[in-house]
Amino acid sequence: MTEQRMDTEYPHLLAPLDLGFLTLPNRVLMGSMHTGLEDDPADAPKLAAYFAERARGGVGLMVTGGYAPHPQGVLGAGGSLLDDPAQLPAHRIVTDSVHEAGGRIALQILHAGRYSKQPDLVAPSASRAPINRFAPRPLEEHEVLEHIESFAACAVLARDGGYDGVEIMGSEGYLINEFLAPRTNHRTDDWGGTPENRRRFAVEVVRRVRDAVGPDFLVIYRISLADLVEGGQTWDEIVALGQEVAAAGATLLNTGIGWHESQVPTIATSVPRAAFTSFTARLRPHVPVPVITSNRINMPQVAEEVLARGDADMVSMARPLLADPEWIRKAAGGRTDEINTCIACNQACLDHVFDEGKASCLVNPRAGRETELVLGPARRAKRVAVVGAGPAGLSAAVTAASRGHRVDLFEAGETVGGQFDLARRIPGKEEFAETIRYYLRQIELTGVALHLGRRVTAADLADHDEVVLATGVTARVPDIPGIDHPMVVTYPQALRGEVPIGARVAVIGAGGVGVDVSEFLTHPESPTLDLAAWRREWGVTDPESAAGALRAAEPEPSPRTVYLLQRTGGRIGTRLGKTTGWVHRAALAAKGVELVSGVNYEKIDDEGLHLSAGPEHADDRVLAVDTIVVCAGQEPVRDLLDGLRAAGRPVHLVGGADVAAELDAKRAIDQGTRTAAAL
Ligand code: NAP
Ligand code: SF4
Repeated sequence: MTEQRMDTEYPHLLAPLDLGFLTLPNRVLMGSMHTGLEDDPADAPKLAAYFAERARGGVGLMVTGGYAPHPQGVLGAGGSLLDDPAQLPAHRIVTDSVHEAGGRIALQILHAGRYSKQPDLVAPSASRAPINRFAPRPLEEHEVLEHIESFAACAVLARDGGYDGVEIMGSEGYLINEFLAPRTNHRTDDWGGTPENRRRFAVEVVRRVRDAVGPDFLVIYRISLADLVEGGQTWDEIVALGQEVAAAGATLLNTGIGWHESQVPTIATSVPRAAFTSFTARLRPHVPVPVITSNRINMPQVAEEVLARGDADMVSMARPLLADPEWIRKAAGGRTDEINTCIACNQACLDHVFDEGKASCLVNPRAGRETELVLGPARRAKRVAVVGAGPAGLSAAVTAASRGHRVDLFEAGETVGGQFDLARRIPGKEEFAETIRYYLRQIELTGVALHLGRRVTAADLADHDEVVLATGVTARVPDIPGIDHPMVVTYPQALRGEVPIGARVAVIGAGGVGVDVSEFLTHPESPTLDLAAWRREWGVTDPESAAGALRAAEPEPSPRTVYLLQRTGGRIGTRLGKTTGWVHRAALAAKGVELVSGVNYEKIDDEGLHLSAGPEHADDRVLAVDTIVVCAGQEPVRDLLDGLRAAGRPVHLVGGADVAAELDAKRAIDQGTRTAAAL
């Protein structure tokens, strides 16, 4: 029986969890997220500050990014590895600071198997992963035992380094998962063939780890509840695995969903909230240990519903705690509306890590930079004018006000949010509305004076000590004959519903905005993040019904015919985020959007859009469309700049007003925050 707090909206979320030798204060696990700070011991103080801030925010248990137990299992050359006591001083910096902050931390042991991006990689069998250019060498039988021992040795080192436990990474298509699934395990010895043999590696790893660390140490096993690839495990195999790893000594089972090579998105913004908790619910009655659910749980109401329904004993969140280290403290204090919500964009976290950078957060640029981006009180309170209430202006205004400045935020329009106010209208990007809600609440809390519908002149700002120009961008109008034809509309007009859109549409420009607009045009007018429809679209089924939880995809047909065009040759969408670009391309393909690259726009007239392409106009065509939506990038809006500079005023340009070419909310919020941090 669990104790529940009745003085809160979230009694299940905030209930302690008694694990026998240890009681966790609430039901939140900060799930593993590789930050890139693990790879170099010199970054240990930064990692320590990052985790300690979250421990102070009320997270009871955290899991580090993955550390390989064996050099052949690193994520890539130079990747994090724990196989030698000489590495422990850096870990001690992290564990000591987490414990001082009142938290607990487990080290994730991750053997990358055939996903290891270095030439000396190993796997159960010699099949190359489609997302890795290196092919693995199959492990000899004696090496299988050596690698199992490496997990046990790594767990002992983790204990010696002050960790409260380990998480054994058994999902996402890494080595352990590769042994489990017939897709990657073609062995005919004791480690392959029958389901029991395929499970042996996972179970032996847990058994050896438990034997090595003793009873009073957390051992979390991350179990793949849906491989979401052909040749994945069946549900009976998964349940048997859960039972066997629990019997072998796992304290908790955490949920993993989908291999990295899966064609189904599992954490992108377009994945409905809590999309996979029903999978954990199916496992829970069959195993004798608490289960943790994960994926797209980003707000306390969602977590509470999942726990109250009995889907799981705990929820795992990683990105939401990057976005707001005080998530739990705010939830517990009845301040949910103050939470800076993770919008699942991946732009500053996973996309950075996949590009071998360091993770941060688009909506919270301090994440992973806690020691460097310090927002202390200002030395002298100034009058600050911020012009423009898009992401750059909003972040600048609330950061400046939080430091004690008196801030006026002027916005010519009637709403705040700028490009985010457009983005939130894209199907699958509804989460962007949370960021606007967050800033509106911060405006109230920090005392920013918000002036909506106010287009200021340089003279209006004469009394301010500092001016931050965040006036954003305007949609670029390309120089095409006939561009003033009534069928041509800009993307803000289309997204705001200011103009009727016909049944056949050409989208000029295939950057992030062109792709988003194409998604908008190929969905019905008021789409909802409906889980059943999402599962049909991506071919996901109940895990009992099919191995890997896959079935044939049946996307809803598009209500419109859409052509997405770019002048550059080659594949469309190559500049989209690493971890989300493929999701957008697959979504457009499912909706039948025709992607056309390498074209010239000749003219627009009543017949439609005239294109020329190919040698000697061999591929010229006319797209007989009703509407043309222009998504050809942006131009900066800086009308005030010259007047302010002429008056000798200190002006700080931020966001799209500074650089429109790479209009980017990540840079806008970062720049707004840093500018205000320096005022
Ligand atoms: P963009 O990425 O610069 O793309 C603009 C597109 O317009 C390009 O495909 C370009 O392709 C075309 N274009 C440029 N000048 C043109 C002209 N004079 N005539 C005709 N076509 C022209 O801009 P965006 O799509 O507005 O996106 C802006 C930024 O927002 C991006 O950098 C991205 O960071 C961010 N964003 C990202 C996402 C996402 O990742 N899902 C979504 C939205 C926005 P050609 O020159 O080849 O024709
Ligand atoms: Fe969430 Fe985006 Fe921040 Fe990553 S960068 S934590 S996905 S808001």
